[in-house]
Amino acid sequence: GTLVLKNVFKRYDNSSVYAVQDYSLECFEREFVGILGPSGCGKTTTLRMVAGLEEITKGDIYIGGRRVNDVHPKDRHIGLAFEDYALYPPLTVYDNIAFNLRAKKTAENVIKKEIMRVAPLLKIEDLLDTMPSALSGGQKQRVNIARALIRKPEILLLDEPMSHLDGKMRQILRTEIKRLHKEINCTTVLVTHDQLEAMSLADRIAIMKDGELQQFDTPIEVYNNP
Ligand code: ADP
Ligand code: ADP
Repeated sequence: GTLVLKNVFKRYDNSSVYAVQDYSLECFEREFVGILGPSGCGKTTTLRMVAGLEEITKGDIYIGGRRVNDVHPKDRHIGLAFEDYALYPPLTVYDNIAFNLRAKKTAENVIKKEIMRVAPLLKIEDLLDTMPSALSGGQKQRVNIARALIRKPEILLLDEPMSHLDGKMRQILRTEIKRLHKEINCTTVLVTHDQLEAMSLADRIAIMKDGELQQFDTPIEVYNNP
């Protein structure tokens, strides 16, 4: 779906300053948007508000035309691949991906069908019986994204998916994410502090500084008119 932020503010309870300030943004359906900026500028806070995980102090966020806060968490179709959703160590890759669906009492045959749908997208078919501890960093991220896609999200949110990978792995996963976005055609928002990553992946880049949106434009425009 489309993603719209209208004059969004966030101030954490224990803080006197705004982590996100007067942030407005409109993303098209199926667009790949990169949120780029240095550490502490408010990227993750923004993404967490979009995901409905963080209260919005002021302003509104709409996904597919519906105000995030008006939609019950159970009815939100948002896929998150965040650091905090680490894979659960005692479960195989298959069971990790199945976890949320099982919690919703989805039938096992449906779960299997869904896993067989997303596994090839991330090229993890051969890893389904593997334990998380035996996966490389890049493989973990693939599984993480597969777990997000199993929810058939309207919008896919990726928070620094490449940050813990070495250079080569990073490049491979970047290519994969780009291909994946083309295949699934889902509105995608990627948070990163890596300019190259944003430049190579995003249709448009939202540059943040000190909680504010500084620029929202195509990579070429960002490059030519920083
Ligand atoms: P980024 O993702 O760009 O690194 P964050 O959104 O994590 O930035 O943080 C933006 C600002 O909000 C920072 O000043 C950070 O210290 C502050 N912040 C983030 N999370 C919390 C929290 N749970 N409580 C208080 N302040 C927070
Ligand atoms: P709901 O139907 O309320 O989303 P779920 O059981 O599917 O219930 O998910 C419960 C919670 O699991 C979510 O609200 C979220 O906090 C967390 N969660 C874990 N992994 C993911 C993921 N990949 N994408 C989205 N949410 C996740």
